Amino acid sequence: MTQKLALVTGAARGIGLATTRLFLREGWQVAMIDRDVPALEAAAADLQGVETFVCDVSIPDAVDQLFKDVLARFGRIDALVNNAGVADFGPIEETDFARWRRVMETNLDGVFLMTQAAVPALKETKGAIVNIASISGLRASTLRVAYGTSKAGVIHLTKQQAAELGEYGIRANCVCPGPVRTKLAMAVHTPEIIAAYHDAIPLNRYGSEEEIGEVIVFLCSAKASYVTGQVIASDGGFESTGVGLP
Ligand code: NAD
Repeated sequence: MTQKLALVTGAARGIGLATTRLFLREGWQVAMIDRDVPALEAAAADLQGVETFVCDVSIPDAVDQLFKDVLARFGRIDALVNNAGVADFGPIEETDFARWRRVMETNLDGVFLMTQAAVPALKETKGAIVNIASISGLRASTLRVAYGTSKAGVIHLTKQQAAELGEYGIRANCVCPGPVRTKLAMAVHTPEIIAAYHDAIPLNRYGSEEEIGEVIVFLCSAKASYVTGQVIASDGGFESTGVGLP
């Protein structure tokens, strides 16, 4: 049987690296994509069945070159996981335009650029797209104007992908993680925020990278063949409780 190929952006660490390992467990090949070259090389060093591709997903020419390289190497794409993201905690009055753009460029422009470039190959395989948004895209908070807005955009873009691409057999779904102790989160989560999350989450804990990755891999698999346009929170119950964001 032909081995399937998943593209995972932001694969050098955190949720992207855990997802890569889970795809490998399920027999997939993975194109690991990241802009952090040393981290990407270190992450791939002990993995069998991966190739690394250095790319900043917010740069159109870099994304074009990436798809030329991936298709030259593998000739197919079965799943695209738009996971690369940057964090930012700031309210409207403290977020200057450069900061706003930095977040939008990776979190929203990157998902658009990667999707547009992947569609021709995904049509061939009737492939799947999974976008990683956040619980911050589901609810407003006093701290996350750029991050939350970018992730709300990813949620809508997922529905748009499902609506437009369903006729080609392409499925698109969105995972909204709750807090996970990655480099991205721990750079901005103060002890107060950590404590507030523990209180507000019904399971009273942070999630793990693997708990998010399992949902992503499921959504890319044939087990989810009738699931598209969905926004799935993997968040310990946070979204369903009505408790405000810290
Ligand atoms: P992380 O910082 O551990 O990993 C993110 C990876 O993305 C890094 O390797 C980084 O180099 C890469 N990256 C960033 N910008 C890039 C770009 N423009 N081009 C290519 N690579 C780029 O973060 P993580 O926590 O694993 O986050 C993964 C995703 O999950 C992000 O989209 C994040 O917003 C989302 N998320 C995380 C949490 C959390 O609590 N950790 C919660 C909700 C959503």
